[in-house]
Amino acid sequence: MDIKKNYTITLIIFILLISITSFMPPFICADDLNENFSLNTESIQQGDFLIVETNLTSPLNSVLFNTTKYNFNNYQDMKIAVVPVSYWITPNDYILKIFGPNKQIKKTITVLSGNFPNSYIEVDQEKENLIRPEKESTIQRKKEEQKLINKARQKSSFSNLWTDSFIWPVKGPISTEFGATRFVNGSLQSRHSGIDIACQQGKSVSATNNGIVKLATNLLITGNTVIIDHGWNIFSSYSHLSKIEVKKGDRVEKGQKIGEIGSTGFSTGPHLHWTITINGVFVNPRSIINNNIIN
Ligand SMILES: [Zn+2]
Repeated sequence: MDIKKNYTITLIIFILLISITSFMPPFICADDLNENFSLNTESIQQGDFLIVETNLTSPLNSVLFNTTKYNFNNYQDMKIAVVPVSYWITPNDYILKIFGPNKQIKKTITVLSGNFPNSYIEVDQEKENLIRPEKESTIQRKKEEQKLINKARQKSSFSNLWTDSFIWPVKGPISTEFGATRFVNGSLQSRHSGIDIACQQGKSVSATNNGIVKLATNLLITGNTVIIDHGWNIFSSYSHLSKIEVKKGDRVEKGQKIGEIGSTGFSTGPHLHWTITINGVFVNPRSIINNNIIN
């Protein structure tokens, strides 16, 4: 009798479990998640970026790194998240959380020093006033221009506009490296957000990859400036140009001439200040040349 009763209870529990689980979304355990996600590296320098790939199609997937959430971008039958590591982040171990449909996995990411050099420049009073303005009109103009720059990088194409690798916009000696701690007239200014390439005035500057021009105008600090959207919140910018040869809304191709080398704005001689931002964070332009985000 007891055996029969136990059997009946077991059968009822079994039927109940089957009916409950049939209404649940597919369950993925952490080990399966590990297999479904790949990470390009677990040890990275300040100013570089991580590439997280998954073949899971759930719309809930995202990545959390150092309190910021990053969404995946669709690419063929894959999803790829590009996670920037700011040059301001203190070298240490950080947790990267990858959220799958029902579970999350954690990876320890070691952020190493970018070994950024110091950069000292001396400028005259007029130029110093540009970066440390006291005049209300200059302060106001800088604020307005910052809004323009932010707006240019606000909306990005959901699909990748770029193809293959990114290229140098111009070849020449590097006068200031990415991330250099900048001192102007002896006092600390900031980190250098891009790479300075010194060239003769008038030399052709090319788009680093395909994209859409989001800004093409003269600004107080960066002079004649072009910002290009490459999709997935990846933008390149080109500053201090003597001449701009594109306009807002233009589609440009990798290698296409967009302007000429100059020394407009806050500049001490003809050069290109070239930046790359990923999800609003400046990253080392060398990294985007050396790492193919999509293969
Ligand atoms: Zn620069």
